Amino acid sequence: MSQRVVIAGGGIVGCLTAMELVTRGYEVTIVERNKIASQTSGESSWAGAGVLFPLLPWMYSEPVNALTLAGASLYPEIAQRLLDETGIDSDLLPSGFLLLPPFDVEIARQWCDRHHFSAHPVSASSFGIQSVTGDDALWLPSVSQIRPPYLMLALRAWLEKNHVTLLEHTELTPLKETTSLDEWKTVSGETLKADKFVVTSGAWSFELLKETAQKLNIKPMRGQILLYQPEKNLEQIVYRDGFYMVPRKDGYLLAGSTLEDVGFDASTTAKVRDEISHKAEAIMPELKGMPIIKHWSGLRPGTPDNLPTIAPHPHIENLYLNTGHFRYGLTMAPISAQITADLISGQQSELDISAYAYPV
Ligand SMILES: Cc1cc2nc3c(=O)[nH]c(=O)nc-3n(C[C@H](O)[C@H](O)[C@H](O)COP(=O)(O)OP(=O)(O)OC[C@H]3O[C@@H](n4cnc5c(N)ncnc54)[C@H](O)[C@@H]3O)c2cc1C
Repeated sequence: MSQRVVIAGGGIVGCLTAMELVTRGYEVTIVERNKIASQTSGESSWAGAGVLFPLLPWMYSEPVNALTLAGASLYPEIAQRLLDETGIDSDLLPSGFLLLPPFDVEIARQWCDRHHFSAHPVSASSFGIQSVTGDDALWLPSVSQIRPPYLMLALRAWLEKNHVTLLEHTELTPLKETTSLDEWKTVSGETLKADKFVVTSGAWSFELLKETAQKLNIKPMRGQILLYQPEKNLEQIVYRDGFYMVPRKDGYLLAGSTLEDVGFDASTTAKVRDEISHKAEAIMPELKGMPIIKHWSGLRPGTPDNLPTIAPHPHIENLYLNTGHFRYGLTMAPISAQITADLISGQQSELDISAYAYPV
């Protein structure tokens, strides 16, 4: 009989972990207190921009970049599999990434050389952008994007088709101290039994585990995004000084985002709307006066140094953690899912995973 795994949280990390485990023969249940592939109270995966690249990778440690590079490289196969098996296109698009000044040219070039990542010095004006901060830009043609709401819908359909039990509108209670886990209670009093459990509850992971894993340093970090529909769209992702614009296939344009330490408040604010639209108009003056089609926020699972925990629980047997992916969970999730499945099935991961251990 196959082993049963319960996954706590149905965002990108939970869904891709479920896909990986089912593919390896496990019987999987995802417990999600809202609805998978929807946005109710700040779930991060629906809200993300879907850039499959850590914006300025040279700002991060090698263990962070190892996850983002490996995660991004798995998307072509995942998106194709989802399209073939569900008919839903996740809009994976190799749209490239134009980095506008200011940035440290030498450090950027060195990083790209070291990682064999294609990068070309270009003029922003040759891309039709009159950059007020200078014309010397860097073009990274191999950066891709994905459309998170479509990706989540495709995953949901795939998981249903592959007999994953989706226990939606079901909330797990904070875990009590124990040495070994074989059941977990829901808020409505149900008891869920399994051989193994995985916490993939994003920004809420510490709420679930604070009695048993006090060192799990995860807190919500809000990000807000605006959506435009310009007459003539950008053709590539454009980044300047902590701000990006992401053109979608169907003519929409995302502009964002913020990094706000405001607890579990997933509201949007007029102040941030004005700040983002100012920055967007500075790059694309034609956006002035254009309607903002949508304005949303999400709560990222914020962690020090952007390092997730992908590891067994420090002392509860049968419990695993796959959480805290902060700014790049969409990019990291495919490889993070593989590592978690390796841990559960006792296999050696190809990557050195020591940096993702539970914090000591
Ligand atoms: C504005 C913004 C832009 C971003 N842009 C990018 C980007 O361009 N590229 C990139 O790689 N990443 C990006 N990210 C980050 C990325 O979205 C996150 O790292 C990733 O979505 C985290 O996924 P998750 O599955 O851990 O969390 P979530 O998607 O938040 O999922 C956690 C799930 O757990 C559920 N849950 C919580 N508690 C319980 C409970 N007690 N019982 C049952 N269910 C529970 C929640 O309802 C939720 O659905 C962005 C994030 C934001 C907010």
